[in-house]
Amino acid sequence: MCQNHNTVEKYPSHFEDSGEVMTHRDLAWDDYREAIRGMRFFDPHVHMTSRTTDDYQAMYDAGIVALIEPAFWLGQPRTGLATFKDYFSSLVGWERFRSSQFGIKHYCTIGLNSREANNEPLAEQVMEILPLFLYKEGVVGVGEIGFDDQTPAEEKYYRAQLELAKAAQLPVQVHTPHRDKKQGTERSMAIALEHGLDPSWVIIDHNNEETVQSVLDQGFYAAFTIYPFTKMGNERMVKVLEKYGPERIMINCAADWGISDPLALPKTAALMKMRGIPDEAIRLVTYQNAIDAFGKSGQIDVADFENGLAVDQSQKFNGNTILRGGQQPRVAKDSLVIN
Ligand SMILES: [Zn+2]
Repeated sequence: MCQNHNTVEKYPSHFEDSGEVMTHRDLAWDDYREAIRGMRFFDPHVHMTSRTTDDYQAMYDAGIVALIEPAFWLGQPRTGLATFKDYFSSLVGWERFRSSQFGIKHYCTIGLNSREANNEPLAEQVMEILPLFLYKEGVVGVGEIGFDDQTPAEEKYYRAQLELAKAAQLPVQVHTPHRDKKQGTERSMAIALEHGLDPSWVIIDHNNEETVQSVLDQGFYAAFTIYPFTKMGNERMVKVLEKYGPERIMINCAADWGISDPLALPKTAALMKMRGIPDEAIRLVTYQNAIDAFGKSGQIDVADFENGLAVDQSQKFNGNTILRGGQQPRVAKDSLVIN
């Protein structure tokens, strides 16, 4: 196992150990770009706040036209409400602008993550401000919420946020735990049903071969996170698709501050293509199903991105551009899709 993995094990965001043999890390751009020529992608779970401009550029070049950034744990516990407020503001503000400057439509989900639900005095304050952000433009769900250690506090704030989602008529993006995943996933679904949520409005994330059958059988969306060498690898993902078909399944990269690959989606699409998965099935799991699920928010208009976003780096956000001194703005109105 990679040495770097030790540093993140103590502070898992989406990480877990598995015997996954890395596959798509071996895929170079020249190897797979031909396989995905003409495809466009929607990544419904990627933490761009933790990523660089090179990542945005590479995602754009690989055909990612839109993404969803869920609110999550930043790797270090927040000490006050103000930093939550600034983080949520950045998800609907600066990060959305930054993404637009690289030609990618940016949506987000807003929520109190499971780890920080355990700081109850702070969690109470966060609950107070969530409605201020949930009703903003471009917020396509409550998320990512759910269980980490499966503590009573996590359950309390998971339930409270399911109620917020119902009131705001927003889909829910559920983070499932790394430890006791199967049991935690079942518990997450049972509680959502207990609160009267329509399962087709709930996206259960970070599935694996042990959880997917039950998630689909109960009518939920099943999202899969493709990691370089943890959770699902993309060879495993191909096998899941072969077994279950593409209905209500979606793929994401969940790329964050740990070892992760913001190109996991296009690379997995390429591998699917190479393994003979039909184009329409690939389109559903890497684009359309996420739009259908999160589009229930009423906040997604595919016309905004299906033919590419106009990029104008001379634009400003609160007086600031993404450019540094001496840089010339890039202005391109071409299609993002690789032709
Ligand atoms: Zn996440």
